[in-house]
Amino acid sequence: MMNDNGQYAAAVEICETGARSSGHLLGVWQQVDEHLHASMCEVCGAMALVVRPGNERCWRTGGKALEQECLKEGIRISEFGA
Ligand SMILES: [Zn+2]
Repeated sequence: MMNDNGQYAAAVEICETGARSSGHLLGVWQQVDEHLHASMCEVCGAMALVVRPGNERCWRTGGKALEQECLKEGIRISEFGA
């Protein structure tokens, strides 16, 4: 069945909580494909990912936004107009 929205929402929440605790500010989540959703930190551009391998039921979280601190303290990115 396709009724896994709850698990997807839970994985996104884990990503957002983890990214926020590292200082990131995630933007809108975008569906890259059926098994991959991504969001980018609006400050430093680090990605957070929610992935579901084709043969698995659970979504997994990952991406640089969960692996490293936000770079906003060290680098000022001023080219984020778009
Ligand atoms: Zn960041």
